[in-house]
Amino acid sequence: MKMVFNNNRGPMKTEFEKGHHWCRHRVKGCGFRMTIGRDAVLDVLSNTEDHLSAEDIYMRVHETYPSVGLTSVYRTLDLLVNIGLVYKFDFGDGRARYELAEGPRGKDHHHHLVCTGCGRIVNYRDFIDEEVALLKKTEEGLSKKYNFAITNHLIQFYGLCEGCRKQ
Ligand SMILES: [Zn+2]
Ligand SMILES: [Zn+2]
Ligand SMILES: [Zn+2]
Repeated sequence: MKMVFNNNRGPMKTEFEKGHHWCRHRVKGCGFRMTIGRDAVLDVLSNTEDHLSAEDIYMRVHETYPSVGLTSVYRTLDLLVNIGLVYKFDFGDGRARYELAEGPRGKDHHHHLVCTGCGRIVNYRDFIDEEVALLKKTEEGLSKKYNFAITNHLIQFYGLCEGCRKQ
């Protein structure tokens, strides 16, 4: 069965349109059709601050698109990770988590604080000055040393959150 992305969707979905239209362009730019499954997964990921597992994503997709199965969600996630649209994380709890990659201008760039006690993941964007300075210096040094043009980075700090430290 062919499921081609349909432009004439109901008004319910239009609020999502702007948020990730660049993703759709990238999917198509890589030679893939926008399918219902791909569209649904991108919708879920562009409307959350959480770092969802494939099962979490499936549950949410299922509410709106009952025809999309878990296998299809897995396959879609693999594809989106491969073309760089979605980041796949292993936060150390044995479950892969997914998050939409940043937009073209890196507007949503953030770092992670990962609590190894409760699994909580904090997205932070209000970087401390020292961090910004250190990263800038590090990137410059690495670029020079390895003659490598750095375009992005992923930063994760592991530890215990306030709640877990009290116990
Ligand atoms: Zn950063
Ligand atoms: Zn914690
Ligand atoms: Zn994040």
